[in-house]
Amino acid sequence: MPTWKLFDLIIVGQGLAGTALAWTLLRRSYRVLVIDRCEPITSSKIAAGLITPITGLRLVVSWRLDEFLPFATRFYRSVEQQTAAHFFELKPMLRLFSSEQEQEQYRQRSQTHFPDLVSVPEPLADPNDFEISQGGFEMTGGAQLDVPTYLNASRHCLENQNSFLEADVDPVKDLEFQSEEVQLPRWNLAAKKIIFCEGIRSQQNPWFQTVPFEGAKGEILTLKIPGLTERRVVHRGVWLAHWKDDLYRAGSTYDREHLNCEPTNAGREEICARLSEFLKRPVEVVDHRAAVRPVIRGRLPIMGLHPEQPQLGFFNGFASKGSLQTPWMADHFVNILEGSVPVEKQLDLSRKIDLRS
Ligand SMILES: Cc1cc2nc3c(=O)[nH]c(=O)nc-3n(C[C@H](O)[C@H](O)[C@H](O)COP(=O)(O)OP(=O)(O)OC[C@H]3O[C@@H](n4cnc5c(N)ncnc54)[C@H](O)[C@@H]3O)c2cc1C
Repeated sequence: MPTWKLFDLIIVGQGLAGTALAWTLLRRSYRVLVIDRCEPITSSKIAAGLITPITGLRLVVSWRLDEFLPFATRFYRSVEQQTAAHFFELKPMLRLFSSEQEQEQYRQRSQTHFPDLVSVPEPLADPNDFEISQGGFEMTGGAQLDVPTYLNASRHCLENQNSFLEADVDPVKDLEFQSEEVQLPRWNLAAKKIIFCEGIRSQQNPWFQTVPFEGAKGEILTLKIPGLTERRVVHRGVWLAHWKDDLYRAGSTYDREHLNCEPTNAGREEICARLSEFLKRPVEVVDHRAAVRPVIRGRLPIMGLHPEQPQLGFFNGFASKGSLQTPWMADHFVNILEGSVPVEKQLDLSRKIDLRS
């Protein structure tokens, strides 16, 4: 008879979702194992980690920013302390206008919808570097998570406490359900529950096949821009964010059709063309990546236990907001698992699973 290694929860996937969930559970003293197949390119590994307070042509304040950002800030700062790594920074961001329509939106909404988040410095930016003739504004309440550093530091910490396994879990062949636990015989593992945080890969997970995944491929560039000193994140159609030394990141595209991780010439040209509308310096592309964001119809995260197999859980759908939302959502999910709060209806897995099919 094999000796089973027993955990309270096994988490499948160490992207932004699984990592936030692991930290939240560990802090509440659960025995946790995180399993990840360690692919080099994932949505989280290539993400810019931006938390942008006001977005889009209509200048909309990010959903529940005032609740999620302070929570995320406390969360990342405490993980920084625990891992002795630095990966989270509150950052001012600059939004440059590209049309009179945007100027008008700003005039109509800035005093009513986000007076505390915006200011207009004079000048907005160095006119030798940026096209600022149409105006714009600076936002506070933005931040940037260095996602790879956060994920690596977290993984290291998990490994040190024997809470990490590199493996590819087959959600059907690898799981055996007993009355009180779920077993993974291939590794002699058992847990009370297994939570899938697989990102877009859950689209292929038969347990969750009716969850209406849409997915959105994003491409992102790393650029060398010698001499540019701007350290704020600059947005105008695309964004430009300083990374280190004379390297910047720029992105990202949004493609709902071609859901693969292949960088394309069209994606690269789109980012470079939009960038050249407001950046006056030449750029050299030194890296180019693509991945698929886990978007679920409705564009909100979804969480919960499977209605027919409650030893299975799901925590996914962070779309373009993983950095901002995963800390608060992980806390909410653990509260739900502990029975201390009901799931918010709009986030409820059971509303997304069709048991008839
Ligand atoms: C180009 C681009 C730019 C982005 N920019 C931003 C940004 O600026 N700000 C922001 O907040 N968000 C951004 N995002 C989105 C953000 O990255 C996502 O919200 C986030 O990555 C979702 O994390 P996740 O953990 O759900 O999924 P993933 O990152 O996909 O993580 C899932 C993990 O699970 C593993 N896995 C899956 N299935 C299995 C299995 N069966 N067995 C073992 N391991 C498994 C995968 O290998 C992976 O490591 C961007 C995304 C892209 C593509």
